[in-house]
Amino acid sequence: MTALVRSGVGPLCAMARAAIPSIWRGKYFSSGNEPAENNPVTPMLRHLIYKIKSTGPITVAEYMKEVLTNPAKGYYVYRDMLGEQGDFITSPEISQIFGELLGIWFISEWMATGKSTAFQLVELGPGRGTLVGDILRVFTQLGSVLKNCDISVHLVEVSQKLSEIQALTLTEEKVPLERNAGSPVYMKGVTKSGIPISWYRHLHDVPKGYSFYLAHEFFDVLPVHKFQKTPQGWREVFIDIDPQVSDKLRFVLAPSATPAEVFIQHDETRDHVEVCPDAGVIIEELSQRIALTGGAALVADYGHDGTKTDTFRGFCGHKLHDVLIAPGTADLTADVDFSYLRRMAQGKVASLGPIKQHTFLKNMGIDVRLKVLLDKSNEPSVRQQLLQGYDMLMNPKKMGERFNFFALLPHERLQGGRHQRNARQSKPFASLVAGFSELAWQ
Ligand code: SAH
Repeated sequence: MTALVRSGVGPLCAMARAAIPSIWRGKYFSSGNEPAENNPVTPMLRHLIYKIKSTGPITVAEYMKEVLTNPAKGYYVYRDMLGEQGDFITSPEISQIFGELLGIWFISEWMATGKSTAFQLVELGPGRGTLVGDILRVFTQLGSVLKNCDISVHLVEVSQKLSEIQALTLTEEKVPLERNAGSPVYMKGVTKSGIPISWYRHLHDVPKGYSFYLAHEFFDVLPVHKFQKTPQGWREVFIDIDPQVSDKLRFVLAPSATPAEVFIQHDETRDHVEVCPDAGVIIEELSQRIALTGGAALVADYGHDGTKTDTFRGFCGHKLHDVLIAPGTADLTADVDFSYLRRMAQGKVASLGPIKQHTFLKNMGIDVRLKVLLDKSNEPSVRQQLLQGYDMLMNPKKMGERFNFFALLPHERLQGGRHQRNARQSKPFASLVAGFSELAWQ
C-alpha cells in the first residue's frame, strides 16, 4: 500500500452543492400504486414479459434485482440518477458537512482501536463518489493525525456509469486508470490526494484486512421478498402479466408456501412483511470480516426496527412512481429492516443503533461545523445553501428522523479492550462510540 500523500490543508470553506429538491427517497410509504399517466413499453418491461411468459411469475426480489442491476438494461447500470437533474437526492449530495462528520467518525474509531498502521476504507454503493470524496478531504485535513497510516479506498459498485463518475470525482484522472472489465477488480487508480483506489462488483472480492466499511442508502436498493398473511398462512407476493392488458404487470399472491418464507420470524405479528436476504448475506460477510480483522461498519439509511409493512416504492424525477410502470426508468427501494440486520450480526460482532440521523449528526458536532463554515463564508448564496442543507439533514420532519445510523463493531470495542480504557476510568468507556453517544466529544 502506498503512503498517504498529503497535499496540504484542504479547503475549510464551504463548497457549492446542487440545489436541494424537496423530495428524498426516505420520504413516503406507499403501496406503489400511484396513478401513472402512461405505461410505456420499456426494453426492461419487454424483457420481463418474455421472462414471465417463459418461466412464470417472478418474486418481487427477482423483479427488483432485474430492474435495478440487470447488466444490460438495469436502472443503476447506465445512468446518473442522483441530484437535481436525476430521480432523487441523498445527504452527501446536499451538504459537504455530512461526509466530513462521517470522516471524523472513522478517524475516531481508528484512534479508539489503537491507530493501526494501515486501513482500508470500503464503500458499498458510492453513488457519485461525493461522500467518499468528502471523507478523504477530512483525512487530508487531519493528515497530522493520520500520518504514517497507509490508507486505501475500495469501492463496491455495479454501475458502469456511476463508477466512471466516481473515478472522475475522486482521481481527476491525474494518473491514468487501469481497466479490466473481466477482473473482479475492474478498475484501479490513485485518488487526487495520492491514495490507491480500486473498484469491485462484489464485497467478497475486496481484500480482507483491517477496514472501515460504509453503506449510505445502499441497503434500501437490495431486493426484498414480500409476504402477505392470509387465512391459509403466509403467501409470497409475485409479479405476473395482467390478463386484461398484455403490456401491464400486476401483483399476485403465490397459491402455496414458497421457500423464502423461512425468513419470516415465527412470532411475527404484522400481516405484511418485506425481507431482504441479500442484506443478511452482506451483514454476515461484514460481521465475519470485522470479527476477524477489526475495523467497523457504518450503515446509514431510511428504515425501521421490524415494525413497518409495505414500504416498496419507486422514484422518478423526484416524484413517487408506480413500481410496476415503465420498469428500468425509475428507482425502486424498500425501507431497511434494522432489526433483521442486527439479528444477522448477532454473535459475531456488536451492533449499535439504529439511531436517528439528527441525533447522530448532533453528537458528531454538526452545529460546530456549520458555525465554522458560516463564519468562513462571505457569500450569501453559500451561507443560505449551508443553512438549507442543515435543515434538510436535521429537521425531524425532513431527513432528520427518517434516516438512521447503525454500526457494527468488534465485541472488544464495546467491552473495553486494551485501547478502550481511559487512565482515570476503571470502567471501559464502552458507550463512547462517537455519534452514538452524547458524551463522544466531552
Ligand atoms: N451512497 C450514494 C448512492 C446511493 S444510490 C449516496 O448516498 O449518494 C445506491 C448506490 O448503490 C448506487 O451507487 C448504485 O449503483 C449502487 N448499487 C445498487 N445495487 C448495487 C449492488 N447490488 N451492488 C453494488 N452496488 C449497488
